[in-house]
Amino acid sequence: MSAQLSIRGLEKAFGAVKATNGANLELAAGELHAIIGPNGAGKSTLISQIAGEIRPDKGQILFAGQDITDIPAHERPRLGLARSFQVSQLYPDFSLLENLALAIAAREGRTFGMWNPLSRDQRLMQPARGYLQRVGLGHRAEDLVSELSHGERRQLELALALAQEASVLLLDEPMAGMGAEESARMTELLQELKGRYAILLVEHDMDAVFALADRITVLVYGQTILTGTVDEVRNNAQVRAAYLGE
Ligand code: ADP
Ligand code: MG
Repeated sequence: MSAQLSIRGLEKAFGAVKATNGANLELAAGELHAIIGPNGAGKSTLISQIAGEIRPDKGQILFAGQDITDIPAHERPRLGLARSFQVSQLYPDFSLLENLALAIAAREGRTFGMWNPLSRDQRLMQPARGYLQRVGLGHRAEDLVSELSHGERRQLELALALAQEASVLLLDEPMAGMGAEESARMTELLQELKGRYAILLVEHDMDAVFALADRITVLVYGQTILTGTVDEVRNNAQVRAAYLGE
């Protein structure tokens, strides 16, 4: 397996708190690699460091062999590294299609004016529709983001990540706040994306993690203490004690 993404000794302190404190991880091409760990373990900090939103105090991030540690966040999607958008980055009073079209336009560095309405630009609208269909939101394309359920918003965030046309997706708790049905749908969706993308997935839903992951890395107090297959991690005494209540 060739490493698409290598994390080497990442550290980030917030005052006295070492959010990451020597995190190491290798993400292979096409692999779905889950990161699990207790609340406050540093999972989100790690994802934000990889996305470039938080600068590490120490350590290196290599993408396809290239050191990207100092590359700004906004340049990373172009290299092939995309994180799912946060709800707050969506335009609630725009339709799903328009949100997607804007994301595609941003990726391509294009701008708009009154003379060139978004909705008539088929070079944007067509792919935008395609991404929505891929995440199962094709039937909601013309609806406003503000009308979506929580689960549908998370699906839309995933579509926005796909629209960045990256080879690596960084997903921080895509199933947070979802009901059973929505979680099952998201699991199915990730199953479909797996293999075509390398996916780094932070998720609390252990059923989903065990169903999806090729490998799992356990993060505790900012340190990666274990990487293994689902069975290896499941049968690890330390993990059983921490997660499965044994
Ligand atoms: P997780 O996602 O695993 O729950 P986080 O990465 O969010 O963990 O947080 C790791 C630790 O760093 C926690 O103790 C958290 O309170 C702290 N932390 C995270 N972000 C910040 C920040 N911006 N400022 C101060 N402390 C932070
Ligand atoms: Mg988190």
